[in-house]
Amino acid sequence: MNPSALSPDQIELQARARELAAGPVTRRAAEVDRTEQYPWDNVELLKDARLIGMTIPKQYGGQGKGWLDAVLAIEALSSACAVTGRIAVETNMGAISAVMAYGSEEQKKMAADMVLAGDKPAICITEPDAGSDANGMTTRADKKGNRYVLNGRKHWITGGGVSRLHLIFAKVYDEKGTFEGIGGFLAIRDETKGLKITKREPTMGLRGIPEAVIDLEDMDVPPSALVIPPRGLKKGFADLMTAYNSQRVGAATVALGIADGAYRLALDWSEKRHQFGRPINEFQGLQWKLADMSIRLSAARALVYNAARSGEGGFPDMLMAAQAKVFTSESAIQIVNEALQFFGARGYSRELPLERMARDVRMFTIGGGTAEVLRNVVAGALLKKKLPQTRDGWDKA
Ligand SMILES: Cc1cc2nc3c(=O)[nH]c(=O)nc-3n(C[C@H](O)[C@H](O)[C@H](O)COP(=O)(O)OP(=O)(O)OC[C@H]3O[C@@H](n4cnc5c(N)ncnc54)[C@H](O)[C@@H]3O)c2cc1C
Repeated sequence: MNPSALSPDQIELQARARELAAGPVTRRAAEVDRTEQYPWDNVELLKDARLIGMTIPKQYGGQGKGWLDAVLAIEALSSACAVTGRIAVETNMGAISAVMAYGSEEQKKMAADMVLAGDKPAICITEPDAGSDANGMTTRADKKGNRYVLNGRKHWITGGGVSRLHLIFAKVYDEKGTFEGIGGFLAIRDETKGLKITKREPTMGLRGIPEAVIDLEDMDVPPSALVIPPRGLKKGFADLMTAYNSQRVGAATVALGIADGAYRLALDWSEKRHQFGRPINEFQGLQWKLADMSIRLSAARALVYNAARSGEGGFPDMLMAAQAKVFTSESAIQIVNEALQFFGARGYSRELPLERMARDVRMFTIGGGTAEVLRNVVAGALLKKKLPQTRDGWDKA
């Protein structure tokens, strides 16, 4: 995007994030990947640079920034370390934005305080038998007297084991066992009885953030833990999906940042590396690769920034968020793969960041809605209809 389209505040914010990314975040990135340890020291750096909880409204201690502000920071950080970029996503978008939109005063204050202190909230939707078909979740919340009791299993929960605040989605049943809809509940690890982290997934990339299985065994919470109340299957689910559009833009931004980082490494190397007596960027085959990479990056950046802008004062537009995530995630995989190719054998070495970037970027056509399912979202929006997904048709889901 033309930098002049950014406000002076946004340019300053971007410069602050770029400085952090180029310095300490770059220095730690390989170690975070190798040790698979959550980078708590980077969390402190993000806090000091005021890049955490930016989107939280001022009355709750945040800065009341917009999605594009968050995107600028996430893009810069992700070009150096995707794990740190994801921490910036989840402390500005996702669960925290859902609580800020739908929560009670008490919930907003609690969530804001936790995030601003450095907690990265976890959003718990996916289950072993309910991935793309989140409607098919079987985790249930049964009303028992003045409590809800939750039972079920969530998996691939980002931050499981390091996050304290959890936003957990379940099918809600009243005291007579009548289904009321999907609701979202707040729970705090080590405080809420029955919330157990039972496995860490051995992931291909993004290894500095745990992906975990979470078992809910008679997890007991008061009705005040409900953030997104059940209002029939479609409504509770619609609220969840509306809030999730910010997370999708965030995920697209991490992919954009990784691709941008890889592209810039390739551009630089293409001048330094000589073969056949000349820099390799004098070969037209490689010039065209660089041209294609830069075109894809510019297009992805425009989609992501526009999707972010569409959400000012609310959540990003569903169609724009889905388009941005599909295009950016797929383009980023191609760009990183091409960038690695520029380095020849060196690109395949763990001593350079390209192989880590190739592993990290692969996630973004999967998590937060797969590229296939998001194409369904795009098609549904274009055709202005809910496309049947189950054999019986959507309405019976
Ligand atoms: C690193 C990572 C982090 C994650 N973090 C979280 C998290 O924090 N919280 C959370 O709740 N979840 C999280 N997830 C889960 C993620 O959202 C799911 O993996 C995703 O929604 C897909 O579900 P699934 O893996 O069960 O795949 P499936 O739904 O089993 O899909 C398998 C394949 O079928 C395709 N497919 C399915 N339905 C259709 C259809 N209707 N049309 C065309 N193709 C279709 C899919 O695109 C995919 O290619 C994370 C995943 C990863 C990899």
